[in-house]
Amino acid sequence: MKIPIPQIKAPEFWLANVDAVERYLTTQVVRGRMHIAGYSTHVRPVRVLEYAVPHAASTLLVIGGTHGHEPGTVAAAMNLIHLLETGRDLAGKEHPTLLALIQKTHLYICPMLNPDGRAICPDTFYAQGLDTCTIYASGLQLDGSLVPYDADSSEPCYYFDPEKCLFIGGQFNGAGWAINRRLSPDHSEAVEVQSLLEFVKGRGIEAILDLHACGYNFAFQARTHPAPYWPIMREWQRRAEKLFASKGRPLGKLHGDGDPPVAPEFHFNSTLFHRHAKLMWMAFEGRQGFLGRMSFMPLPTEWEIIDDYLSAITVFVELGSEGYYARANRQTFGGG
Ligand SMILES: [Zn+2]
Repeated sequence: MKIPIPQIKAPEFWLANVDAVERYLTTQVVRGRMHIAGYSTHVRPVRVLEYAVPHAASTLLVIGGTHGHEPGTVAAAMNLIHLLETGRDLAGKEHPTLLALIQKTHLYICPMLNPDGRAICPDTFYAQGLDTCTIYASGLQLDGSLVPYDADSSEPCYYFDPEKCLFIGGQFNGAGWAINRRLSPDHSEAVEVQSLLEFVKGRGIEAILDLHACGYNFAFQARTHPAPYWPIMREWQRRAEKLFASKGRPLGKLHGDGDPPVAPEFHFNSTLFHRHAKLMWMAFEGRQGFLGRMSFMPLPTEWEIIDDYLSAITVFVELGSEGYYARANRQTFGGG
């Protein structure tokens, strides 16, 4: 049995479809330098675009599409690429503050880290219920029940055999490995993540912003990072609260913060990249535009969802340009 992927129409600026993204990246990019960090389980390229500038204020990486069921993260990364290519986002809107910041940044963008996960999910969950997204996040076993991926469990599912599924969900890569969870902080079993880690090492990247999506806007304190990084995330929060408030958008509290933050019992990609590439990791959760809970209201427009991501990126790049990540990296890892 094959499950057809339902689609609801997404606006053209919501560029999240796996084939459409590949088409854009292979035909529309002029300024950016294209790298292929590696290939997914099903041999789709994991692309990274590089925008180098002379005397860059900082060197940063933005990741979209870690989770296949979070299409807005891919769309946001593609809008960022279009802004760098043309000076406007895919809806034709200008972002002068962000553009000025990224024009003095050595920026890498990996718009779709998990293309196999993206390929098995709809292009958008906008104006759909949360439970629809849960099915595509987890996948379905042969009997039609959900693959047991429990996001809040302390003993999470790291692997599920795709042979035992009608399809394996966007939380996983094509081989059945959870794309953002690690058994150990030494390496990733997901080839996409390990390829990107190998790509990142030695490039002088100071920080990574990893884009995710759920019902709400909020950022994470990377709980396994040492103390020099905690105040940076709090500074991101302080500035982002102001920026979101000025646009009339909701921003939740900094998730996982504490004094000290309490580390989870398993590892995320954040630990892996921090340790092996000696950099700071930030994660931002944007909105999907779900229906079905009062707290999802008011329903944002699709462009507002993208603009929320660009706002999160604005503060991320601003802190980089002021040397926050480089200083914390020096304090933690030494070096000049
Ligand atoms: Zn996610």
